[in-house]
Amino acid sequence: MKTKLGLLYGGKSAEHKVSLQTALAVIRALDLEKFEIHPIYINVEGQWIKGPELSGPVDNVKALEFSNDNQLSPLSLAPSLFHAEKQEAPLDVIFPLLHGPNGEDGTVQGLLELLNVPYVGNGVLASAAGMDKVMMKNVFAQAGLAQVNYVAFIKSEWEHSKEEAYSKVEAELGFPCFVKPANLGSSVGISKCTNRAELETAFVEAFQFDRKVIIEEGVVAREIEVGILGNDYPECSIPGEIVPKTDFYDYKAKYEDGDTALIIPADIKDEEYEQIKEMAIQAFKALDCSGLVRADFFLTKDGKALINEVNTMPGFTPFSMFPLLWKHTGVEYPQLIERLVELAKERHQEKQ
Ligand code: ATP
Ligand code: MG
Ligand code: MG
Ligand code: MG
Repeated sequence: MKTKLGLLYGGKSAEHKVSLQTALAVIRALDLEKFEIHPIYINVEGQWIKGPELSGPVDNVKALEFSNDNQLSPLSLAPSLFHAEKQEAPLDVIFPLLHGPNGEDGTVQGLLELLNVPYVGNGVLASAAGMDKVMMKNVFAQAGLAQVNYVAFIKSEWEHSKEEAYSKVEAELGFPCFVKPANLGSSVGISKCTNRAELETAFVEAFQFDRKVIIEEGVVAREIEVGILGNDYPECSIPGEIVPKTDFYDYKAKYEDGDTALIIPADIKDEEYEQIKEMAIQAFKALDCSGLVRADFFLTKDGKALINEVNTMPGFTPFSMFPLLWKHTGVEYPQLIERLVELAKERHQEKQ
């Protein structure tokens, strides 16, 4: 029996285009002897559109951007409704290939829980907590994981007394510091500040994207990432290192310049890797993750690892860090996808 796999991609988000590329790559990698592929496209207006079942790989992303004459209510993904008009079996698993708010943050996961459809990746709690950097860091602190110092403000607190907010940052963190919207990714809205004037500009910038911002102590460190795969028994990939050519790994370095080096495996000491691996698995468990996570670390000169964040739906094209880490660990892209689908089924069965 083939697995009926629904691919959910696109989305009303800054990462719409990235998601389309990911969907194209996943479709190319899937073994059609094992999978029936059912595309579900979310256009930039946020409409859900059901595509035809795919009988082979598609040439380019254009073929995946369906026009909105076959709109689908998200609720009709419920097993009792999907395909109901054709009396066909419902989808077995949905793979959300979405990043950022309304994709990676627990909202889509909540919908799929309600509908009782198995889905790939993290559940509601881990997705939501992983999307909010303040919540995530509070959980890490509670788990005793080493990380940089941070403070947070909601917009109304800042508006009430900007002076107090800036003074608190200067007193508790000093410069340089990083100002970030709490709920984003891809470095959108993030600034590095080396003085008070830059701090003021950075707050204004970050509050354009979110009602909550986090400010972190800046560290001088190498950036090491690992991939975690599994449910109750998570496994860790070999480490990778990011070496941006810019001052930090900003949006431009991620999507425009493309000359950031990804070094796999990262050239770090065994004991440094052991430390990172242990922390990554602890972080995965602390947030109650499932399926996959990419954990990002800072490694200081004296060999101390600090966890920066986890990403519950990391970049997933074949050229993204997470799939590359697993490729070098011995799991090729098609096997990685199959493993994630298995993990989704396994978790769903446990809940029944
Ligand atoms: P993504 O989800 O795409 O990995 P993000 O938007 O969640 O990114 P972060 O990973 O938190 O953002 O930060 C982006 C980059 O900014 C880091 O990779 C690093 O280069 C730099 N950076 C962030 N925080 C700090 C810090 N506290 N000290 C030094 N550099 C930092
Ligand atoms: Mg992130
Ligand atoms: Mg992200
Ligand atoms: Mg990151």
